[in-house]
Amino acid sequence: MPKRPDIDGPRLLADIETLARIGRDPSTGGVTRLAFSGEDRAGRDFVAGLLAELSMETRYDAIGNAFAVRPGAREGIVLAGSHTDTVASGGRFDGALGVLAAVAALRAVHEAGMTTGWGLGVVSFVNEEGVRFMPDMMGSLYVRGSLDTASVRSVVGIDGMTVGEALDRSGMAGTDDLSSLPVRAYLELHIEQGPVLAGEGIDVGIVTGVQGLRWMRCRLEGAANHAGTTPMSGRRDALLAAALVAVEARALTREIPGLRATVGQVRCLPGLVNVVAGSAECTVDLRHPEAGELDRAWHAAIERFRGACTGEGVAIEVEELAHAAPVTFDPGLVSALDTAAAARGLTRRRLLSGAGHDAQILQGFWPSAMLFVPSRNGISHSPLEYSSPEACVSGARVLLDAMLALSAD
Ligand SMILES: [Zn+2]
Repeated sequence: MPKRPDIDGPRLLADIETLARIGRDPSTGGVTRLAFSGEDRAGRDFVAGLLAELSMETRYDAIGNAFAVRPGAREGIVLAGSHTDTVASGGRFDGALGVLAAVAALRAVHEAGMTTGWGLGVVSFVNEEGVRFMPDMMGSLYVRGSLDTASVRSVVGIDGMTVGEALDRSGMAGTDDLSSLPVRAYLELHIEQGPVLAGEGIDVGIVTGVQGLRWMRCRLEGAANHAGTTPMSGRRDALLAAALVAVEARALTREIPGLRATVGQVRCLPGLVNVVAGSAECTVDLRHPEAGELDRAWHAAIERFRGACTGEGVAIEVEELAHAAPVTFDPGLVSALDTAAAARGLTRRRLLSGAGHDAQILQGFWPSAMLFVPSRNGISHSPLEYSSPEACVSGARVLLDAMLALSAD
């Protein structure tokens, strides 16, 4: 009787450490593998080498999404993965854990000599972070058909190079088509990047969805005037209006439960110490897990902002910068992860993702779901990013068990 596949924990942890050395700054410990860079390529080559040990060939699509499949008895694939690009001076676990845990799951199945029902696959999406080239989650947007090859290749990065040039230079592009694979399920293990699981001492998070977001820019038009001679009454201070926008945004979160509202950027003109600001711009980031509540917040926010600005004699114009609907993950996959975690005796809770991930882009194109492990102090995108060895291995075990259960159905 073949042995039941299980994750080789020490090997997974060693792989995480080896990948973290690629692009690491020894002075800070931060890891930098910006999309389509030489470091990004080296990280992906490392993963391809791990898969080659399992007799799996890594293939690449036209923008460098990497994938490898171990065929099963039936047509259909359960795919798992994440990304290995990082932000500048990022951590060791964001994305890397999901890809290396998927490799560890395939290693377990390979070493057990098992034939699964559906095939099992590993995927590493390109440019999830969007630091060097916008938008983020570029690889998954491409797979689901929201971006085409020409538009991706023409994107200009912060260093002036296009994605096309960077792809040609790094040799990351291939000719295979990831989007045409018969994927029945996509599972992504990821660090939480938030404080909930660590704060509650819970082993794993079963992610039910991703909250929606709407971004606006407010243009505020008042009147610039002398700080010393203009009376306080009758001023039309655009910067004060921007401050009132921030105050009203915060007040709205008390009116609409579950709303997150952030004014993260303010600019004002002329921006001088002795002049009342004549014009200002600020951004507002609104997030909510329910589409209806998000829209209600959007309209309520605009009404509040107008009221506050009118009181100051400042004209306000609102422009929408981004709108992403909330995503609900596939209920069958969510419960498969939940069942697998329960069978391993892990404590768990359901939660929404606060950050964006490839899985949210793919849900609707492929049935998708996510699993989180705790992030110490909720920190990510930093050299301080940390998830314990136990958490990483537990997450990989749940991933493996869920993949096996789904492939057997
Ligand atoms: Zn990530």
